[in-house]
Amino acid sequence: MADGILVVVSGFSGSGKGTLMKKLLSEYDDYALSVSATTRAPRMGEVEGREYFFKSKEEFEKLIQNDELIEYASFCNNYYGTPRDYVLEQRKSGKNVILEIEVQGALKVKEKYPDTMLIFITPPDAHILRERLVGRGTECEKDIKARLHQAAWEAGCMSKYDYVLVNDDLERAVKELNQIISNRGKMKADN
Ligand code: 5GP
Repeated sequence: MADGILVVVSGFSGSGKGTLMKKLLSEYDDYALSVSATTRAPRMGEVEGREYFFKSKEEFEKLIQNDELIEYASFCNNYYGTPRDYVLEQRKSGKNVILEIEVQGALKVKEKYPDTMLIFITPPDAHILRERLVGRGTECEKDIKARLHQAAWEAGCMSKYDYVLVNDDLERAVKELNQIISNRGKMKADN
C-alpha cells in the first residue's frame, strides 16, 4: 500500500480551521489527525490526548531533547510540537495525515518532507477574526491582541502555501478540502 499524504493545514487563530478538520474527519475515512503536544493550559472542554497532549515546559523540552517531535514552534508564549511516531505510523497504513499547525512549524515540515501539501485556511473577511476570537470567549483581551498580531504576520506567509482555502461555508469548504487532497493522491498514484 502507498503511504498516505502528509497535509499541513494552517490558518489564523479564529479562522474556523478546527471545526473544518473535525468535519473532514467525521465525513471521510481516509484521514488521521495528528495530536500535538503543547505547554498551553487546557481550555474548557479540551481533553488530554484528544485536542492536545498537555505538557509542562520541562516535559516539552524533554521531547525536544529526545528528538520525538517532527517540528515544534513557540506561538504566543507557548510551545507546540508534532509527535513523530503517530504521524509516520498512520502514513504507513495509507491514511492521509493532517497536521493542524502554525506557519513556522508548517515550513519546517515542508523542508523535512518536501512532498507535504501546505493548505492555508482563511475566513472570508479578516475583520471577522476579532469577532470570532471574542465570541468564543477562550482568550483574554491581551491574548486576543497577541493572536491578531500573529495573524497579521502569518498573512505575509500565505504565498508559501500550495493552496489557500476560503472558509466561507463549512459544507463547501470541507468538500473542496477533500477534493484538493484526493486529487494529489490520484496524481501520486499515476506517477
Ligand atoms: P491553539 O492555542 O489555538 O490551540 O493553537 C495555537 C496555534 O498553534 C494554532 O495556529 C495551531 O494550529 C498551532 N499548533 C497546534 N499544534 C501545533 C504543533 O504541533 N506545531 C506547531 N508548530 N503549531 C501548532
